[in-house]
Amino acid sequence: RAKSAGKNRYEFFLKEMKTTLVDSLLLENELRRCIENEEMHLHYQPQIDLRTGRIVGLEALVRWQHAERGMISPMDFIPLAEDTGLIEPLGEWVLKHACERFQAWLMSGLNFGKIAVNLSTKQFRLRRFEQTVMSILMETRLAPQYLELEITESSAMENAEEAIHMLNCLSKLGLSLAIDDFGTGYSSLAYLRRFPINKLKIDRSFVNDIDEDGSDSAIAKSIIDLAHNLKLDVLAEGVEHLDQSHWLLSKGCNQVQGFYYSKPLPEAQLLALVNSDRAERDSAGVRLLL
Ligand code: C2E
Ligand code: MG
Ligand code: MG
Ligand code: MG
Repeated sequence: RAKSAGKNRYEFFLKEMKTTLVDSLLLENELRRCIENEEMHLHYQPQIDLRTGRIVGLEALVRWQHAERGMISPMDFIPLAEDTGLIEPLGEWVLKHACERFQAWLMSGLNFGKIAVNLSTKQFRLRRFEQTVMSILMETRLAPQYLELEITESSAMENAEEAIHMLNCLSKLGLSLAIDDFGTGYSSLAYLRRFPINKLKIDRSFVNDIDEDGSDSAIAKSIIDLAHNLKLDVLAEGVEHLDQSHWLLSKGCNQVQGFYYSKPLPEAQLLALVNSDRAERDSAGVRLLL
């Protein structure tokens, strides 16, 4: 009996494994098709200056709205895109679309400060990636000072000499660079000092329990101090409560981003938010200013 139960379990396991494999192959094909048909969307999350309460940037976050599966998280399909070589067209689509929308907003008199675009590990290591960025800037006519590229701490520290070279090439284009998810990787401070970066983004795992004065608060405070010592801006990710912003402001953090201020929004909702905010500027409780 035990034997047959074991066998059943084994068969069950095999079946599960096959479905996952078939699933990911299906997804890969669909991902390919969706990129080709431009069925991806971007959402935009405001970044707020803590002192003024104003929007100083937007982070572009890619969304895949699948016909049957619903919304697929970038945490699931970015790794798939990296493994299948689709990260190059996907990354280019994201960058181009983000720059194009930002330029269109500028032309209509809306200046959100900067547009931040995430780069995957493989993407920013691509040879001549800076050429791709340059041609997208030229094509969309976006001035480079409006563009910020985000790379994660772990991807920057992996082969750091090469990363420094790549970041220097990008920095020479006149755009800004931010280190994302800071605190979750293993930074060498010697390297960090040599990166031509403008901003550290404190990972949201350290922002969660920030007002309770435990070890997460100590880490967040250390990152803020480190950023200031290196003359960098510092932004806290994942701010969900006003208390967290108060704490962060008291420790000298420059910028915040999180659900408390706004979830990542599709363009129409972003513009509606900005317009309603303008209309209600004088009423109490308005948190976003532009
Ligand atoms: P990230 O760059 O660190 O982006 C922040 C993530 O935190 C976003 O998840 C955002 O929706 C979420 N978030 C923002 N505020 C809050 C908050 O207050 N509470 C909580 N719980 N979460 C918050 P999302 O959009 O699912 O993206 C996840 C990750 O996928 C991103 O992390 C980024 O690493 C990657 N990603 C997203 N878009 C792109 C893209 O266009 N290219 C690449 N290469 N990666 C992307
Ligand atoms: Mg990011
Ligand atoms: Mg992050
Ligand atoms: Mg993240």
